Amino acid sequence: MRGRFFTRREYILAALAVILVICQVYLDISIPDYMSRITDAYLLEDHNTVVRYGIDMVVCAFGSLILSILAGFIVSRIAAAVGRNMRKAQFERVQKFSTENISRFSAASLITRTTNDVTQIQNFVARGLQIVIKAPIMAVWATSKIYGTSMEWTAFTIGCLVMLVAVMFISLYLAIPRFKRIQWLTDVVNRSTRENLDGLRVIRAYNAADYQGAKFEKANCDLLNNNISAIKFMAPVFPFAHSMMNFITLGIYWIGAGLVVAANTTVEQKLLFSDMIVFSSYATMVLTAVMMFFGIFRMLPRAMVGYRRITEVINSEPTITDGEGTGGTEKGTIEFRNVTFSYPGSGKSTLEDVSFKVEAGKTVAVIGPTGSGKSTIVNLISRLYDVGEGQVLVDGKDVREYDLESLRIRLGYVPQSAVIFSGSVRMNVNYGFGSEGRTDDDVWRALHIAQAEEFVRALPEGLESHISQHGRNLSGGQKQRISIARAVCRSPEIYLLDDTFSALDYKTDKELRRALREETAGSTVFIVAQRIGTIKDADEIIVLDGGRVVGRGTHSELMGSCPLYADIAKSQLTQEELQ
Ligand code: ADP
Repeated sequence: MRGRFFTRREYILAALAVILVICQVYLDISIPDYMSRITDAYLLEDHNTVVRYGIDMVVCAFGSLILSILAGFIVSRIAAAVGRNMRKAQFERVQKFSTENISRFSAASLITRTTNDVTQIQNFVARGLQIVIKAPIMAVWATSKIYGTSMEWTAFTIGCLVMLVAVMFISLYLAIPRFKRIQWLTDVVNRSTRENLDGLRVIRAYNAADYQGAKFEKANCDLLNNNISAIKFMAPVFPFAHSMMNFITLGIYWIGAGLVVAANTTVEQKLLFSDMIVFSSYATMVLTAVMMFFGIFRMLPRAMVGYRRITEVINSEPTITDGEGTGGTEKGTIEFRNVTFSYPGSGKSTLEDVSFKVEAGKTVAVIGPTGSGKSTIVNLISRLYDVGEGQVLVDGKDVREYDLESLRIRLGYVPQSAVIFSGSVRMNVNYGFGSEGRTDDDVWRALHIAQAEEFVRALPEGLESHISQHGRNLSGGQKQRISIARAVCRSPEIYLLDDTFSALDYKTDKELRRALREETAGSTVFIVAQRIGTIKDADEIIVLDGGRVVGRGTHSELMGSCPLYADIAKSQLTQEELQ
């Protein structure tokens, strides 16, 4: 943790905190000394000295308070900085994650790890650091003050300490497993909340609020019960420790009373009396130091779990890694060479021995039943996943040899369901690498091609108009057109359109394809589609079935040679359109 999350600045602040705490403990430790001197002076009826030492004692107590506040402030700053560094490190790592990495953790868990887990550590550092510095210094210093003064008192104090430590140890032993489960259960609550928010419309439409509510309630109650059972074991410890403090003072006085009575002279009695006050103060300090340490151990399990979960994210190697290449020699081509692929953990091949080549500037479409592997082909081209066997080549170069930025800059990818970010229309269209170099004219041109110009012009603030997260204030078709405009705006070498037109009506679909063909001549277009109408005019159509290529050719060729294609076509087109 230190190397990565503590910077030089935090080390310097920590050193400063140590100095402040040492000074503070020194002042705390001096107070019983003053008490002893005041008692002595009082017994000698020297009232001026009592007042003088009294004032010194108040100054000490006040100084200790100020130093403690300063140390607390510094330690909180260290903790906040550590929290920020942890969030940053996780965010940067997740940016590099592949889809496989993300689904292994789950989005909900990644959110808990970046928020809740970091807060655990932050709290631990904020409170724990001060204690870690203060408690040992205080315990050792206080012990050294009373060491060798009285066998009876020392034996009694050790007895009390052993009891306190035993109670703390047992309660921690019982509570730690429950503390460890808290984060995991928080993940479950988080997942349930996310699902509920993401699916709000469907939940309402199906009157499934009760069902979702029950699911959430279960996760929430599991967390509650776990917390209750953890707290149950911890609850008695602090009252017990406080009683122990009183008990130790009482015991020392009781033993002291016996010693005073047994003393031979009045001077001896007075000295014993003053020693007794000092001893009980220091003994209480030793107990307080132990109690403070217990506080750390109480926070430690959750902080440790949090730390492990955070480092798990940071140490996870992205399953998709950068190559070195920046470009190939056959500009604008895509080729699959005997590609076989299965999704991680699925156990069965999604694509089997798929081979085809898309020449530069051509429009090639993939069609096939749902689940036949169409989107998977697109995922492999943009390297969301890597092939199991065979090769995928873009511009004649294996996609694994590219550095990812150079590969993705070539691709204008439009996913099946539009991804919209919260922000202006302009920011959503002119997005990503190279956006600074593009003007509003480029944005309008892209919107025009994507058939989105008209509705954006009708918006009150045009390109400045705000789109909410997930585009909730847009229709499905509008979202899809904004998402197409985003790809067009980059003028990519290759368009990857993954069932992009399905949210559009037939007329818009047709006009969009025409505009795309005219305006993007020279770019390669790779379309995944469900509707024959969308791809009928493609230079080549690839028919997929169960992950295998079962037909290739133009529309008219496939109508004769590929029964599956002919079936799909007949089910969608009129006799006239089929010609
Ligand atoms: P299509 O686009 O033709 O409808 P896909 O390429 O999306 O089909 O999916 C092909 C097959 O791969 C389906 O059986 C689907 O269940 C499976 N699949 C898709 N995505 C994943 C994934 N992330 N993990 C495991 N299996 C997946």
